[in-house]
Amino acid sequence: MEENHIYQFSLLNALMDGVSEHGIRASQLSQKGNQGLGTFSRMNGELLMLEGKIYQLQAEGSVREADETDQIPFAVSTNFVPQKSELVDMKGKEAVDEVLERFYPGKKNLFVTYRVEGKFSYLNCRTVRGQEYPGQPLSELGKKQSVEEYHDISGTIIGFRTPKNWQGFGVGGEHLHFIDEGRSRGGHVLEVRAEGVKVGVAVCRSVHIELPDDEDFNKASLVTDDAGVKEVEG
Ligand SMILES: [Zn+2]
Repeated sequence: MEENHIYQFSLLNALMDGVSEHGIRASQLSQKGNQGLGTFSRMNGELLMLEGKIYQLQAEGSVREADETDQIPFAVSTNFVPQKSELVDMKGKEAVDEVLERFYPGKKNLFVTYRVEGKFSYLNCRTVRGQEYPGQPLSELGKKQSVEEYHDISGTIIGFRTPKNWQGFGVGGEHLHFIDEGRSRGGHVLEVRAEGVKVGVAVCRSVHIELPDDEDFNKASLVTDDAGVKEVEG
């Protein structure tokens, strides 16, 4: 993988339509960079990839290391090489946008990837519990997600900013997953506060998309539901 090129498998809209049975193997995804996020078959938990390892962030905040044969129905990844880094304070999730705007003024139409490392004074993370029946849409799963709060916890956040006009391709705006230092807790970040954490960032100008070619995907409408995405991925 070239530096800071984005690789994505499938579309967020496919998950919104409940298409999540099959995908690429974890062993394939791990060749696509040194950081990433996504989900597992039947949207069972959140995925975080960091330095060659893929973790399944499960409901109630537990973590499992993925098997090579695990199916990944949606993921975005990159070979992250930071172009800039700085120690920053984060008063909330919107601080990410402020930091990126300061680092890259006016580049709101470009993809950006980042990594935040350090001690977080507060984190609110969710994990999707997985489908109860094949084809269950993500918007429904969001209503029964597991939500955990953490205080004074050290770890790493992997993030991607997808330009807002690409809503449905991925999560328009910020998309962050967290894993703690001990690799035992984590999830999709809903809220974050921290002082003096290290943020490394890189603009990504190249996107490689690989689409599934199975019946479920081909039958899906894949129409973007902007309000629905914001509700479940906010
Ligand atoms: Zn997520």
